[in-house]
Parts: sequence; C-alpha cells; structure tokens
Amino acid sequence: MQFGTKAIHAGVEPDPSTGAIMTPIFQTSTYVQESPAKHKGYAYARGANPTRNSLQKSIAALENGKFGLCFSSGMGATDAVIKLLSPGDEVITSNDLYGGSYRMFTKVYERFGIKFHFIDLTDAKNAETYVNSKTKMFWLETPSNPLMRIIDIEACVKIAKKNNCLVAVDNTFASPYLQNPLALGADIVMHSVTKYLGGHSDVIMGALVVNDDKLYQDLAFIANSCGAVPGPQDSFLVLRGIKTLHLRMERHCQNGKKIAEYLKNHPKVGKVYWPGFTDHANHAIAKKQMRDFGGMLSFTLKSDSVEAATKLMESVELFSLAESLGGVESLINHPASMTHASIPRDERMKNGLTDSLIRLSVGVEDAEDLLADLEQALSKA
Ligand SMILES: *Cc1c(COP(=O)(O)O)cnc(C)c1O
Repeated sequence: MQFGTKAIHAGVEPDPSTGAIMTPIFQTSTYVQESPAKHKGYAYARGANPTRNSLQKSIAALENGKFGLCFSSGMGATDAVIKLLSPGDEVITSNDLYGGSYRMFTKVYERFGIKFHFIDLTDAKNAETYVNSKTKMFWLETPSNPLMRIIDIEACVKIAKKNNCLVAVDNTFASPYLQNPLALGADIVMHSVTKYLGGHSDVIMGALVVNDDKLYQDLAFIANSCGAVPGPQDSFLVLRGIKTLHLRMERHCQNGKKIAEYLKNHPKVGKVYWPGFTDHANHAIAKKQMRDFGGMLSFTLKSDSVEAATKLMESVELFSLAESLGGVESLINHPASMTHASIPRDERMKNGLTDSLIRLSVGVEDAEDLLADLEQALSKA
C-alpha cells in the first residue's frame, strides 16, 4: 500500500457493532468481563483502549513498523525509551537536541546515574571517540531543532550495531512521510505526535514504533507500568489528523521551499538553515534518507540584532508567535528565549544557536500570503 492510502486506511476498520466508518471514541476506564480469567482483549484502559489501538496500528503502518505505542506526550514516549536503561549505562546523542529532551536527559536521568554524551553527530565518526562498553543507546534527532542539521542515520546505525547499542530516532521534524528510520536500521522511532502527525495544534501526544517483539514487550510493559498513556478523545483527533498527513506534508514541503528561497535572497537575511539547499552542509545525506525537505527552517538577520529579530516577530500577522510546529498554520519562534531557553547560553552559542535566530514552522496556507507577510515584517526589522 502506498503512503496516502495507508494514512487513510491503516489500522482502522468499520466498528464491528454498528458499521460506523470512523473509529469510535471508547471513553471508558474499564471493561466488563465474562469471568475472572476471560476478557475480550481489554481489561483496564491504562493497558489498552480500542481507539488508541487503532491509532497505534496506523502510526506503525506509516513507519513500516510492526508495533506502535502511543503516549500522553512526546516526552512521555522519550521517557519510556530511556527507562529501558539502567544506572551506569551511557547514551550517545547530538549537541543540538530538542530542548525538552536535553532537559530530561541532564536534569532528570543524569540524577539516576545515566550518562549522556552530547556530541556533533553530523559526522557519525565522532561517535567512535565516545562509544565504550557502557554505551547502550544512540539517541538521534534529524533534522535537528532548530538548526536543521542532518545526521546520517545509516552511518550511526553501523557504529551502534558494532557496539551492541540500540538506536532510537526522534523523527518528529521529518514525520513518517519524509523519513522512515526503521528502514535505515534504527530500532526505535519516536514521534512527538503533537506536531505533524496530529497536525492541527489541538493535541499533545507521543508515539514509538518498533519491529522487535521483545523491545515492544519491554516498552509496552513500561507504558502500562508507568502510565503515560493518551486518552481516547486525543487518539480520535490524531486518527482524523493522519488522514490528511500526506496532503499536508506535500504543501508544507512546497511552501517551505518557496520561503527558504525567498529568505536566502533577501538583503536583510543572514543565514538560512534548510536542508533542501544544495550548499547545506548535509544536503547529500538529507537527499539520500528523506523524500523531501519539509516545512521547517531557521534564519538569522544580517544585523544579528535581537531587537530587529524581536521587531520582525512582533510584526508578522499571518505567522503566529508560538512554540510548537507541524500544524496547518504557520508559526514563528525565537528558540533562544522560547523552545531552547532551558539550554544554558554558552552551550547554545557554542552550537550556533545565536540570540537572533528565528525558526519558522511553515504551514499549509497559500505561499503568496506567507511571503507577503514576511516581506512586510522584514521591512520593519
Ligand atoms: C515537541 C518535540 C518533542 C516533545 O514532544 P511533546 O509532545 O511536546 O512532549 C520532542 N522532540 C521534538 C523534535 C519536538 O519537536
């Protein structure tokens, strides 16, 4: 089945009791059993819910994976993955991670004795310097947030497998439409479903997809034991969102390209970070492992002035100044004070995340209107 067909049909079937074409919202906490040892596959809704099950199958199918698991947030999904580890274990990860992941790793899990190496993985070979007998996992995020760096998933998998490490990939920015890490050898795909999969800025949710039975059992055990599961209403909203994922992504990519090219030629704009440019440092890898380049991009102003960047962000009318990404509406964001405020300034600056950096999540509006909005806002910056 092709991607668009799966987005509409995978995991869902008419409700057996009524024929309802849309998966019902099973708003229940428990299920009546015939006898103590006999039930219809559902005992208590922390463990399983039919609406959630449909969604899990749908997301697994989009990643060409065997098993899907949904969580109450992207961080809840990441948390479950890190709980596979034990004190003393080490993780190799990149130095421009999503701010919330960095915060969880350093502020929560380092206290539990897990060590994280935050390194530049745009050259996978750098991992070889840090990998040792205690290394148990690689945590990759590509394209990265907000600098749109690209990590070669296959090259990292090669090093990880030689050292018996699991590879988990945060695939939020690409969405399953653009990139499928399991096919590149990764063991776990993580999504902040909140973003492209949900797509309408109305749900917080996370997901994991895996192929290995034992890994699935372990993660399902953690999900049920620790309890970060999503509710059926949210599962329904995401099932609905996914039906247009391929259509939305197509437009996100078209609009992203138009805006990236416009900004690149604007006299007030400094650097534009978008992996579709042939002079992007990792363009060749992006081209190899992604189907297109997406609607996420960042840029700086030539003046590199925080005041000018602030003026621009206050002047846009169609772009909304907000955290998050991947919804149908275009958003503008200031990583240094918003999404990445939890990363210490020196750490940020070292990694090229300057004070005047602006991130766009390009929506699916008409490109002409988005360009006109940027034009008027840039004239005031
Ligand atoms: C938003 C985001 C997360 C966290 O997901 P939540 O649903 O907000 O918990 C993780 N990784 C990336 C890349 C994200 O953009």
